[in-house]
Amino acid sequence: MGQLRKDILRRHSMAAAGMLLFTVLYVVGYGIVYQADTPFLVYFAAFLYFSCHAGVAYVIWSGRTKEMSDPSLTLPVMALVILFMSVMILAGPALRGIILLGLLNIMPFGVFRLSGKGFLGVSLFAIACYALVIFLTHYRNSDELLPGLEALTGFALTTSLLVYAFIGREFAMLRAAYRDKNLELRRAMARIEELAVTDELTGLNNRRYLLKTLEKQRALAVRQDIPFVVAFIDIDFFKQVNDDYGHRIGDQVLAELAHLLRVSVREVDLAARYGGEEFVLLLSGLNMEAAEGVLERIRASVECQRFSEAELHQTISIGVAQYHPDEATDEVLGRADRMLYEAKHSGRNRVCLEKRSYAPSSDQESSS
Ligand code: GH3
Ligand code: MG
Ligand code: MG
Repeated sequence: MGQLRKDILRRHSMAAAGMLLFTVLYVVGYGIVYQADTPFLVYFAAFLYFSCHAGVAYVIWSGRTKEMSDPSLTLPVMALVILFMSVMILAGPALRGIILLGLLNIMPFGVFRLSGKGFLGVSLFAIACYALVIFLTHYRNSDELLPGLEALTGFALTTSLLVYAFIGREFAMLRAAYRDKNLELRRAMARIEELAVTDELTGLNNRRYLLKTLEKQRALAVRQDIPFVVAFIDIDFFKQVNDDYGHRIGDQVLAELAHLLRVSVREVDLAARYGGEEFVLLLSGLNMEAAEGVLERIRASVECQRFSEAELHQTISIGVAQYHPDEATDEVLGRADRMLYEAKHSGRNRVCLEKRSYAPSSDQESSS
């Protein structure tokens, strides 16, 4: 159960405990004032109220109110309390002073939860119930009440409830502003987290993200025996591109190559920019034989594609190593890097696998 639901249920328990105490106070007060037992109607109303409140708590506990605008169901519970108190006044009008105090005591619960309109609605409902109960009492026994005093009491109650409604509206506005700020902050945090792991030029994940993902892959390899392969990719003679066409075209080549790498691997794989014109592919669940096919296909498609507005030919060299259980992630990265070095020194534009070098049929050097 989430913290929010725990907090809501704690507040409901407090409210129900308060109402229990209040009911006991009423029963004692009834005995003192009327020298009689509390009428059955009050016990019946108490039973209905506490059963309904328990039902509300159950619905909240079950998580069914999570998506509602008021997950604490404060409005229906306040309406239940007002109805219960109305029955109490009806059964023992002499105790109405205590009950009105109780009514004012429950209002702060709404101040923190309800919208301005919701709170005004509850206040008007309380005023209407009180007026109806006083009218019924007067109708039943006109000697029991002083009309002038009742009018004044009603006026004082209305004023108090309207003041609460005003404060409730202010709180609702504060809550809305706080919620908006919180949302804004969470969005900004998510954006910062995304930027921290994304390479700006290519949109690929950066080295930081790669290293984290490598650790996760390592855990999978150790615990679930899922193999993975690391491929280090370096553009051949890329410095020449910058020298001949400038950095703007160089950047375009990098971005387009990054896109090609991203769309060439599966969702479960990772294409990351390691730095400069070096990329790393993390191929999950593959052994060297399967990875060789994928990487050769990528090497060939780079060779076929024309990059940037200058329509440049580019080639890449790829060094590949498979993760050996129990080694650290930088060891497999280091071995893939050594294979890349071998690919460069055995002629470039090739995939060089650990213990086995693969040369393309048209063993052609980069031309840009
Ligand atoms: P080799 O085949 O041996 O890899 O030759 P190379 O010229 O590609 O190798 P080298 O590592 O000497 O050059 C890499 C170049 O990549 C150097 C640098 O100017 C360029 N480079 C690195 N990062 C960027 C970048 O973000 N944008 C551009 N335009 N160029 C970059
Ligand atoms: Mg390089
Ligand atoms: Mg290079």
